[in-house]
Amino acid sequence: MTNLTASPLIDQAAGLAQEGLEYAIAHGLVRYRKDGSIGHLPFTLYPWEAPAGFYEHGKRVSPLYNKLYHRVSQQRDFLDEHLAASREVDDFVKGLYNCLPEKPISRPWLFLSRHDFMPAVTPKGILPKQVETNLMAASLGYASQRVNAAIRFLYSGTDLGKKVVPHKGGSTICQGLALGYKHYANPGQVILFIVPPGEVNAFDQRSMQAELVLEYGIPVVRTTLDELGDLGELRDGYTCLHGKSAAIAYFRAGYSPDHYQNELAWKGRRLLEHSQTMSIPSVTIQLANTKKIQQVLGDQAMLEKFVSPQEAVELLETMVAMSPVDGSLHGATGRELALQQPENWVLKPSREGGGNNYFGEDMVKHLNQLSKRDAEAFIIMEAIKQDSFRAVRLVEEKVVDDQCVTEMGHFSYALWDEGKSEPEFEDTEGYLLRTKHVHNREGLVLGGYSFLDTAAIP
Ligand code: ADP
Ligand code: MG
Repeated sequence: MTNLTASPLIDQAAGLAQEGLEYAIAHGLVRYRKDGSIGHLPFTLYPWEAPAGFYEHGKRVSPLYNKLYHRVSQQRDFLDEHLAASREVDDFVKGLYNCLPEKPISRPWLFLSRHDFMPAVTPKGILPKQVETNLMAASLGYASQRVNAAIRFLYSGTDLGKKVVPHKGGSTICQGLALGYKHYANPGQVILFIVPPGEVNAFDQRSMQAELVLEYGIPVVRTTLDELGDLGELRDGYTCLHGKSAAIAYFRAGYSPDHYQNELAWKGRRLLEHSQTMSIPSVTIQLANTKKIQQVLGDQAMLEKFVSPQEAVELLETMVAMSPVDGSLHGATGRELALQQPENWVLKPSREGGGNNYFGEDMVKHLNQLSKRDAEAFIIMEAIKQDSFRAVRLVEEKVVDDQCVTEMGHFSYALWDEGKSEPEFEDTEGYLLRTKHVHNREGLVLGGYSFLDTAAIP
């Protein structure tokens, strides 16, 4: 269980538990538990020692993903063509399509993203391989900057501590939002935070809300899609709630069918799409961000429809194999591969928010049950293989010490004005590092699968 490359300090990490816990509580590294009580988030007591170049490579390619997805979201024909079959069988995709206005409304396109990569073992060494891009509700930015600060504090004065580069993931997203507001809002307008009812991740959002108000003087109104559907209205082209006109609607909900329990929620989403209020993300950006489109884009020729050949090579270098599992010839081959080597593939529906994928024997069972028609809503993705490492963390106030794997998500923003090919402003700064037990398949922190980590960068 030893990690050959780890500093000997790892053997003392458990001794930092009490100081780490008190730091976490003092600095808001907390969450609601299911019973409504408040506890600390699971977090590391020892930084992940990143392989050389991994962090820089993921950071470098992240703006390229924004550019790619921006261009894809501008091409309604492309989305319609590749989502036509999913739309037939997937009510959620269909519901999103039903929100689109007949004639597109002209607004800027603001991306607040998190680009997730795993350190894959490849013949060319350890490279970042994309798990997915989150163009909606990219969360845990503040929590991850706090874990980063906690580890810098706990390891201050050591050589290891010096390698834990400070970062501000949450503030990056907040800055993108503030710049978007400055660029687009009329005086007196607000930003709507669209949150799910009973949100457990409220602390991360509250931190952003406070930063917007205190650092930038921007008013924020929290609401749900249901409330917007019920009380929202169109005034002078913008979505209004309680008499306040919204320049921007920032979505921390709306990525899951669970967030549309009734017609009112869909009505709220439609209202936003039919207004000048800039949704982050708009429905077309959300459609471009489906797993189905991710799979379609995993191809040099397809990428070259949107970016230069050189950029396509750079993007492809960070992708793994993906395939449909539908009734086409390509789909039949994909299905066969996944059934023959279940450990090498992951079955994914076009969903966000975690807990939706199928792995191993579960995947085989599900694939065998899927009709060719229903399979249109799924893709398979090559399982990214990485070396495990020893990790020491605090979970519900107890030290856990075993072998883990990890995933780094780079926070990024970019804004394009309608019809412009270059962004007005963009930046990529800060990351979320989620680490989990080597045998855990999913990666949710709030679902209890993984813990917040931070990187020592060589
Ligand atoms: P979601 O949109 O639900 O977050 P993801 O594509 O991020 O879906 O998958 C959820 C989790 O499943 C990831 O965080 C990761 O832990 C695991 N996972 C997804 N795809 C792969 C893959 N290709 N190889 C290994 N693990 C994966
Ligand atoms: Mg994910």
